[in-house]
Amino acid sequence: MKTSQEFRQQKISELARACRENGLPLTPQRQTVLEALAGRSDHPSADELFDEVKDRLRGISRATVYRVLETLVRLGVARRISTSEARARFDAHCGRHHHVQCARCGKVEDLHDLPLDDLMPENTFQGGFRLLDYSVQFSGLCTDCQDRP
Ligand SMILES: [Zn+2]
Ligand SMILES: [Zn+2]
Repeated sequence: MKTSQEFRQQKISELARACRENGLPLTPQRQTVLEALAGRSDHPSADELFDEVKDRLRGISRATVYRVLETLVRLGVARRISTSEARARFDAHCGRHHHVQCARCGKVEDLHDLPLDDLMPENTFQGGFRLLDYSVQFSGLCTDCQDRP
């Protein structure tokens, strides 16, 4: 497991490479939003990331953070994860892994070491699609919520 500092640096070099390959500038906005995302394990929404970066990037707007996140997803350095909520949440970990969401407080965490990494069917053409990847989402009760009546 990488330290979070190493992970943030790794993500910034991935971003630098992706920007170069796509002819996009490596803006402070892109860099700061990705760094903030890589520093968290709670799969924040765009609004939560905006709250975190607004003091570091003076004058940045909520709309800019939304747009930056779209770009980071398109560049493949972040991904949008699906939950039962309407709002999108984001993840800087792009490799295959799985999530558990608390049914009470909505917290989303990673699940590791589950025997779920072998679910890809041998024939990846299914229902007219060529399957690329998958992730599994569990729901449950987090530690805090288990203790609450
Ligand atoms: Zn909870
Ligand atoms: Zn995750």
